[in-house]
Amino acid sequence: MTNGKHCVVVGAGAAGLWTAWALSEVGMRVTVLDAGAAAAGASWGNAGWICPAQAGPVPEAGIIMHGLKDLVRRDSALHFSPAALLRLGPWIATFARYCNDRSYFDGLAALSTLGYPSFKLIERLGLDEHFDKTGLLAISKNPADVEHFIEKIEPLAKFGQGATTEVLTGSAVQDLDPVVPRGQAAALIGNHWQVVPHKYMAALIEKVVAAGVEIREHEPVEHLHVRDGRVRAVRTNRDVHEGDHVVLAAGVNTTALARSIGHHLPVIGGKGYSFDVRPGRMPKQAIQTLDTHLAISPMGGTLRVAGAMDFTNSPTRIPKRRVDAMQRSARALLGPWTDQSAPWSGLRPVAPDGLPMIGRLAPDSNVFVATGYQMLGMTISPAAGVHLAEAIATGDDGRTGPFSAQRFARKKIRAYPR
Ligand SMILES: Cc1cc2nc3c(=O)[nH]c(=O)nc-3n(C[C@H](O)[C@H](O)[C@H](O)COP(=O)(O)OP(=O)(O)OC[C@H]3O[C@@H](n4cnc5c(N)ncnc54)[C@H](O)[C@@H]3O)c2cc1C
Repeated sequence: MTNGKHCVVVGAGAAGLWTAWALSEVGMRVTVLDAGAAAAGASWGNAGWICPAQAGPVPEAGIIMHGLKDLVRRDSALHFSPAALLRLGPWIATFARYCNDRSYFDGLAALSTLGYPSFKLIERLGLDEHFDKTGLLAISKNPADVEHFIEKIEPLAKFGQGATTEVLTGSAVQDLDPVVPRGQAAALIGNHWQVVPHKYMAALIEKVVAAGVEIREHEPVEHLHVRDGRVRAVRTNRDVHEGDHVVLAAGVNTTALARSIGHHLPVIGGKGYSFDVRPGRMPKQAIQTLDTHLAISPMGGTLRVAGAMDFTNSPTRIPKRRVDAMQRSARALLGPWTDQSAPWSGLRPVAPDGLPMIGRLAPDSNVFVATGYQMLGMTISPAAGVHLAEAIATGDDGRTGPFSAQRFARKKIRAYPR
């Protein structure tokens, strides 16, 4: 039963689909528009971790201290191409302001409080049926990396998330997983769910459609029609959709859509890569390599290797050197493999403070955003969707809170006329 209000959601990734479902739960009629096939963006080829231990924002103390020299190194986990450095100067300057412990731990608390209800929501929709819940092993040759990892997640214990405090070394690591070579220290995170992203997203689409949401694929939004400060209609290549509210959940493209109606949203794309292999021996659970920054995820008969965060001027290019480096690090751990798939790339939407932007785009606007989910889109999108649907239903003006979409607002910028 709808309350007569119609909401148009732009983007059918994890952010848009969970928001659409939550909006239908609060009684709205919902239409989701996607430029391509639903769930074919960043939500497709990621590592599939639903894991509160990953709840930290991207900026951390030490990143900038290591210096820009490290950030432009092609094998650095977080890499800025020299060309992008120029274009992204103001974004990087803001990012640098958040590279300190206080911002990191405030962000961790906010993100984990936001994200933790996701587990219950996933269970409620019955999406966890085929999940692997065997945990995450964070490993490194250097025990200090594991100690640092534990320090970073220790505050999660306060939120009831059972963070581990034990550094495992020697044979204790092989006892947990014989696939991990000798000489690695490790920490086991029990509270970790593993999904096969494309299967999970297909199941989510089914649930969203069953809830009465209309999903229209291959309908890129071309224009947001503004009258009296409100978006009255959304024009695609095929149709014009009128709505009481509009949610921009278009991943990194949310920035351009917001800009087209005169609003500054500093969300940019952090490109990551993945490929699938058939290893000789399958790890028992997901593995995070703290020294080489890989996410290794068993997905049935195959193993996904994911990693890197590149800020470049080329959103789709997959640099061979980058993938080769990931392969070398993964082989050192897993030994030989067969059937390596073609590499995939996806853009994580990242705000300079590493926190999502969930809420009203500007005071009195009927446009809301759901983006900036960075490395955590699979983990936080269920709860973030509910958070946004509640804000829309209650008329929250969205100015306050760590996820406010207005927190980086500037004086209105010139909209591109159409
Ligand atoms: C290598 C890698 C590994 C990752 N691993 C994990 C992980 O293990 N766990 C985790 O929680 N997160 C992970 N992430 C992050 C996660 O994938 C993202 O945060 C999440 O997918 C973002 O979802 P989204 O809906 O915002 O964006 P997307 O999934 O990109 O969806 C945006 C949608 O908007 C559509 N769109 C864009 N422009 C328009 C337009 N003009 N009109 C209509 N539609 C439009 C696109 O077609 C797309 O379908 C990983 C990311 C990468 C790259």
